[in-house]
Amino acid sequence: MLTYAATLEAARIAKEARSDTGQLHALAADVETHLYGRACSIYTPDHFAAWEVVPPEVFKVFGDRSFMFVNTRVLWTLDALRKYFDKPVIVNTYRSGKLKTLFGDFDERGFRTPATTTGAALSPHKRGDAADCNVIGVGVPEVRDTILTNQNHPAFRFITRIEAEVTGWLHFDVVNTGQTKIITFNP
Ligand SMILES: [Zn+2]
Repeated sequence: MLTYAATLEAARIAKEARSDTGQLHALAADVETHLYGRACSIYTPDHFAAWEVVPPEVFKVFGDRSFMFVNTRVLWTLDALRKYFDKPVIVNTYRSGKLKTLFGDFDERGFRTPATTTGAALSPHKRGDAADCNVIGVGVPEVRDTILTNQNHPAFRFITRIEAEVTGWLHFDVVNTGQTKIITFNP
């Protein structure tokens, strides 16, 4: 996993490259590869197991391959939140007795199947583009404000929308809004 120091270095290289258009494209491609691996198409989280981001019926069938149902940008961002706040981050809890006791039994906070009646019919959760999470020890409003205030930080680069007002969890998603700023919306 890339350190933030390396991320900043990559950003510096990219900035330098902008002053030399001849090298721009080659360097930009190098930076992307350096940051995200091959075209951001493969990502295995450092801090999350597959069951934490898919419901039980999916994990039962696909096991660790269940990551295929979740957008790599969501997985990357969960790790980034874990590192940025330097606290545990929880999504689903259903396979951990301890987490269930402490925080409640959650099983549809990452990917949701099309069959579920939870949430909106076309929710980004059903495309694997969203997660509802908690940063343990940091209140949801504080997490939300931190992200919105520091939205140019590399850790938050893929977040395109977050839910406003909700206090029980932080919903973020990575849908293509066409906007450079993070959009807040009411559920
Ligand atoms: Zn959500």
